[in-house]
Amino acid sequence: MLRPGADPDNVQMSDVLCDFCHAMWTADLPFVEGHQGHVICGRCVRVACLEVESVEGGAESTRQCCMCLEDRPEPCWASPLDAQARICRRCIEMAADALEGDAESGWQRP
Ligand SMILES: [Zn+2]
Ligand SMILES: [Zn+2]
Repeated sequence: MLRPGADPDNVQMSDVLCDFCHAMWTADLPFVEGHQGHVICGRCVRVACLEVESVEGGAESTRQCCMCLEDRPEPCWASPLDAQARICRRCIEMAADALEGDAESGWQRP
């Protein structure tokens, strides 16, 4: 998401905040973009990977994933800060793949 007050026509790295933990995008914190300006940082992807794996099979999402904007019947991870910020398992996997594929990020799947 964009920092409140940011100029959408002149977005700087520091104007981009993780939707899930509200951390600022910096050179040493990799971000993954979703739809409509929603982003998740590498730290949150790591937590989401761990927590979604610990969900016992039956947990179902009834709310929209904010990364793909789909309402998917599968486990998802919600931000501890903002229950509206949710990411489905598929998007967690895609984000983890993207981060792992980016050698410069140094990100590793937990
Ligand atoms: Zn984050
Ligand atoms: Zn999704």
